[in-house]
Amino acid sequence: MKKFCVFCGNPPENKNMEHVIPQWLSKYTERFNEECHQKTVTDAKIRFRNLKFPACTKCNDAFGKLESATKPILLSIMEGKPVSGEQINILLDWFDKIRVGIWLLELILAKKVDEINPGFHIADRMGQKDRLLMVERVEGNPKGLAYAGTGTELFYNTPTAIQLIVNDFIFTNASEHGLVSARMGFPCRQKMPIRDGFQPIEVEVMPGRNKTSHPVVMSQGATPFKTLIYQPIYRNCCNIPPEENPYNCEYVRNHSYDPDNGVGGIFFQRTNNQIHYLDAHETVNLTPKAQPKKNFDTIIRNVFKLQNYMMENLYTMKDTDPKLAQYIQKQILLNKIYAGEKLR
Ligand SMILES: [Zn+2]
Repeated sequence: MKKFCVFCGNPPENKNMEHVIPQWLSKYTERFNEECHQKTVTDAKIRFRNLKFPACTKCNDAFGKLESATKPILLSIMEGKPVSGEQINILLDWFDKIRVGIWLLELILAKKVDEINPGFHIADRMGQKDRLLMVERVEGNPKGLAYAGTGTELFYNTPTAIQLIVNDFIFTNASEHGLVSARMGFPCRQKMPIRDGFQPIEVEVMPGRNKTSHPVVMSQGATPFKTLIYQPIYRNCCNIPPEENPYNCEYVRNHSYDPDNGVGGIFFQRTNNQIHYLDAHETVNLTPKAQPKKNFDTIIRNVFKLQNYMMENLYTMKDTDPKLAQYIQKQILLNKIYAGEKLR
């Protein structure tokens, strides 16, 4: 296997090592010298301090800035302090980095890189698709750090959703085209046909409804114990000529942080089903109340449901090669088992 930079995918220039799970986070949770109890097919026992990946010095320095910007934001949420729309945007960038970084790491640990050629790396996936973050908390969870939702075939093929457990907080993060756009009132791509290799395909963009609607994803709403955060992203539609571009409208401009680069604004649901828009400089407290510890397993199972939801609702297998369709159906079924769903 050729060594590649976790950020750009090229052979690492002035080789350096990147901690896929940032050092500040494993130190904050007192796990830096501890074993990462992640189940991989190899059952490899690795300490957090050794979860390192080759990277170019230049790439590592650039992404180091994102790490230092993220730390106070994540800690604010965990300490019950308000955060701004702009800060949440940075936090969602960081989750893109973590999700893709852990995916690449898992592919290597599970010796899957030769079978599933990683067609993209961290830098390619930063802020490219709609984003979702669920924030939950359970009572009395001790100091700790873990991730979930990653050891499945569906995740190996489409790393769309992951969970990060930091002390008593559980963050469920997902990113995919069409995940939240339509429900945020934005134009939205039609379902993507699945072809071999999950190559991006041009699909028609439908005009937006210029208003938000609930429920957004998987019929889930917010409660005092669960905060939901959404961000539409339409970067890949910025090259459509303005007169034909459905994103070129007042509603989208008024609800975007960077309309020229296709970065939508932050929306959230907090304690109830009402969807609020958050201006870039406006702040809000998004910290949920802690829920009973017995709910922990149910929360963890949600990530597998979310992966299935995206595969079944954002893609279409209408023109998919029957063999590939069968393979994906099998992965969906496996995820249902992990999600604890009763099978017929
Ligand atoms: Zn690089």
